[in-house]
Amino acid sequence: MKKTIFEAVKSMKNGSLTSTQLLNTCLERVEKAKDLQAIVTLNDELCKIKAAALDAKREELSGDELGPLHGIPVAVKDNFSTAGIRTTCASRILSDYVPNYTATAVQKLLSAGGLLLAKTNMDEFAMGAGSVESHMGEVRNPWNTDRVAGGSSGGSIVSVACGAVFAALGSDTGGSVRNPACFCGVVGYKPSYGLISRHGLISLENSMDTVGIAARYVDDVAYILDIIAGWDAKDSTSVKRPVDKVQLDEEPSVKGLNVGIPYDFHAPGTSREVIDEWSRIADEFERAGANVVSASLPSTQFGIDAYYVLCKSEVASNMARYDGIEYGFRSNGESTEQLYASTRAIGLNDAVRERILAGNYFLLSRNYKKYYEKAQKVRRKIANEFNDTFNSGIDVLLTPAVLEPAPRFDWFKDSRNRVKSQDHDIYTITVNLAGLPAVVVPTGLNKENLPIGLQLITPYLNDVKLLNIAKWLENYCSFKQFVDRQMN
Ligand code: GLN
Repeated sequence: MKKTIFEAVKSMKNGSLTSTQLLNTCLERVEKAKDLQAIVTLNDELCKIKAAALDAKREELSGDELGPLHGIPVAVKDNFSTAGIRTTCASRILSDYVPNYTATAVQKLLSAGGLLLAKTNMDEFAMGAGSVESHMGEVRNPWNTDRVAGGSSGGSIVSVACGAVFAALGSDTGGSVRNPACFCGVVGYKPSYGLISRHGLISLENSMDTVGIAARYVDDVAYILDIIAGWDAKDSTSVKRPVDKVQLDEEPSVKGLNVGIPYDFHAPGTSREVIDEWSRIADEFERAGANVVSASLPSTQFGIDAYYVLCKSEVASNMARYDGIEYGFRSNGESTEQLYASTRAIGLNDAVRERILAGNYFLLSRNYKKYYEKAQKVRRKIANEFNDTFNSGIDVLLTPAVLEPAPRFDWFKDSRNRVKSQDHDIYTITVNLAGLPAVVVPTGLNKENLPIGLQLITPYLNDVKLLNIAKWLENYCSFKQFVDRQMN
C-alpha cells in the first residue's frame, strides 16, 4: 500500500501482484474507514468479481494490453452518479436513488481498469466544510477522532488517508477537496474549471463545480488526472481543446520560479502555526532558487460573501428538482404544494433548506441587482486580480488552505457555529470564483500530531505546472514518512 499507483500497476502487469491480493489489502483498511463513517456504500462484492476477471485477463494478455488503472481500488464521493449503485448525496431525499447512468469521470476510471470500491460520505449535497451535515453519519478525522475530517468531500479524503483506496474523486466548488485534504494530510487537487467533465456530478453550483482528485502522492493525482481529463460532449462547459499527456518531471525544480505571497491572505482567525508554516515554506522555496515576491489580491476579503450569494442562488434553482415527484423520497400531503413542502421538510436537512430559501430571496426581482448582480461583479473583480497578478510575472501563489489544523468535532457539529465555520473557506473559495487550478500539499504535523498543509495556485490551465511544483514541495517536505507511518 505504500506504492504509488504506477508502481502497483507495474507489479500487477509483471505478475508479481494480483488484483485480488491488492483488493484484499485494501479491504482490510476499509474497516478503519468504515469506523470513521467515511463510506456510504461499499461495493466490495462487485469489486471481487471484477478483480478476479482482471486477474484472468492478465493471464491471457500481455501487460501492455491492460488498462492504466488495472485493478486499482478507488472511491468516489456519493454525488457522482453511478449506474446500478445508489447515489445519495448523503441526503435522506436520495437515500434510495439508483441512477441509470455513470458520470463521465467515473466511467473513465472504470474503463481504465479501476475498481470502484466505495461511494463516500459527504456533507448533504456538498454543502458544508466538515462532513458533519450528513444523513449518513458524521465523518471523523483519522489522525484524531475528536477532530473533523473537513468537507464536504470528507469521506473520499478519509478513505485515501486510511489506505482503503489509492485515490478518490471528490467535488470542489468552494474548497471541498482541498479543505479535508489539508485537515487529513493528503494531497487534494482542484482542476481548472472545465478540464474534467462534470457530466453525472450532481450539481451544487454549476458555474463553480469541479471534479477534484485526492491521493496520498502528487504523482497519483497526476496519474488519475491523465485518465479523466478532457473534453466531453455531455458537458458543455468542458474545455474543447486537446489535453496533453499529464506527465510530471522526475525531479521537478523551482529554480527561477516567481512565487507570490498574497499579503491579503492574512485572514482574521488564521492560527499562528499556519502563518509560521507558510513563512517556513516560503523560505524553502527561496533556498531552492525561487524568487519569492509579494502579491496583491485585495478583493479576497469579499470572496465568502460573493460565493455564498452565487452558490445559494444556483442552489435555489438546482434543488427545485427534488420535489418528491420524480426522484427519491416522497412524503404525503393533501395538495401538490403540501406534498412538495413536506417532502422537502423531511427529505432535506436544515443547512440545505436554508440555502434554498436564501437563494430564492436573492433572486427576487427586487433583490436581484443588490445581491446576485453585485456578487457577479465581485467575482469578475477577483478573477481580474488573479489575472493581473499572474500577468505581472508571478508563476504560482503560495497560500494557506484553511485557518488552522482540523477543528474540534463538537464545535463544528454545533449548528450555531455553522456561519463561523465558513470562515475557513476564505483561502479556497476565490480560486473557484476565478476558475483556477489549485492543490493542497501536506507539509508537516503540528505539536498535537495534526497535519498542516499549504495551497498552491497557478494560472488557468497551468495544471501540469501546478502539479510539478506540488511534487517539488512534497519531495522537500517528505510528508510521505508520516503517511507511511499511518499505513503501518
Ligand atoms: N464550504 C463550501 C460550501 O459549503 C464549499 C463546498 C464545496 O466545495 N462543495 O458551499
